[in-house]
Amino acid sequence: MNHGVNQLAIFTGVPEFDEPRYVGLPNIGDRERFFSLLEGALDRRWLSNGGPLVQEFERRVADQAGVRHCVATCNATVALELAIRAADLTGEVIVPAFTFPATVHAVRWMGLTPVLSDVDPETGNLDPAQIVAHITPRTSAVIGVHLWGRPCAVDELAAIADRHGLTLLFDAAQAFGARHAGRPVGGFGAAEVFSFHATKLVNAFEGGAVVTDDSSLAARVRAMQNFGIVGEDEVAHAGTNAKMSEAAAAMGLASLAGMEGFVDRNRRNYLRYREALAGIPGLVVPPPDPSVEHAYHYVVVRIDAGAFGLSRDDLMAVLRAENVMAKRYFYPGCHRMAPYHADGDAFPHTEALAASLLTLPTGAAVDGSDIDRIAALIRTAAEHSSAVAAHLATDGAAATVSGLGR
Ligand SMILES: *Cc1c(COP(=O)(O)O)cnc(C)c1O
Repeated sequence: MNHGVNQLAIFTGVPEFDEPRYVGLPNIGDRERFFSLLEGALDRRWLSNGGPLVQEFERRVADQAGVRHCVATCNATVALELAIRAADLTGEVIVPAFTFPATVHAVRWMGLTPVLSDVDPETGNLDPAQIVAHITPRTSAVIGVHLWGRPCAVDELAAIADRHGLTLLFDAAQAFGARHAGRPVGGFGAAEVFSFHATKLVNAFEGGAVVTDDSSLAARVRAMQNFGIVGEDEVAHAGTNAKMSEAAAAMGLASLAGMEGFVDRNRRNYLRYREALAGIPGLVVPPPDPSVEHAYHYVVVRIDAGAFGLSRDDLMAVLRAENVMAKRYFYPGCHRMAPYHADGDAFPHTEALAASLLTLPTGAAVDGSDIDRIAALIRTAAEHSSAVAAHLATDGAAATVSGLGR
């Protein structure tokens, strides 16, 4: 575990890990429970259309989120689209530039104009002070994203939305189980959207949900996710098909049963990373924020290239050669993606975060000894940063790195 620089795989081609360690490898919940729930669905021959498993999943999600209504869907992207449509949004919708593209796509896909806003340089969440400048007479809403499960500045955003008559929605895709000042994510704004995609804390293979305390909004979402149907032979709205299947709900329920264990493992992994990476100049593992509570589903470290001696991208190349599949979430920022291309100068905080953050492997498939080995690699790279940087700048290194761990 104590590496000389020459043992790094960028030099030798021999990776530290035989099997890749990934960011976002799915947590598998209670298998027995999954299979028995699935058998039940087959026995009932009730496979979709609000079957008992979807109903139970919706009740559990609503309970966890502390809200009255949950409509489960086939994924979170469509859930966002449904929330946007059901809330009658029009014109322009303010969204963060630093998010997974689905947040911005959902607005555009509904025929509206996403207006990207720069984010808070520390949290990566919407900066309430900055969104005011983006409000125009055409603005109908703000969609905040609880990045990596860390709740937005919900009170400040709500005050601005109130003052300007805007609807406030939250993309809570990464924040199921999180709390802000003791209150669960789910009940903020007019509605929030969870994702139960395979890579999220709780998964339904693919899945999502709209949660809200507004019964009329919930009723519209529920109708619209099932072709606008509100009763036999009665269609009240234009709609789509965004229903969750019973098979997905079976997985969702089995995954919910494992949730406590996932969170516990994630928290231990995060603390282990914090301890193992302590004291490396230019590398910050952000400390826990006492006002929020989340699932530590993502371990995101910040690299200050000047102090660390290597750029974030160089460190990622070193790690990938070792089969440590660290990722650049969310690179390069939505303002740099083809459909939304906008001037980088207007997004200095998004740019800085997109250039300096690295997401490290965690979840149920990563244990403490993996983390110690990953941290040792990072420490070796930092201690020998000039040799590493010089080597990575050569063509031969680029070839070795691209041939490994991919
Ligand atoms: C995962 C994710 C989504 C998309 O969720 P799906 O269920 O895959 O559609 C949207 N927004 C954010 C912030 C996400 O992390």
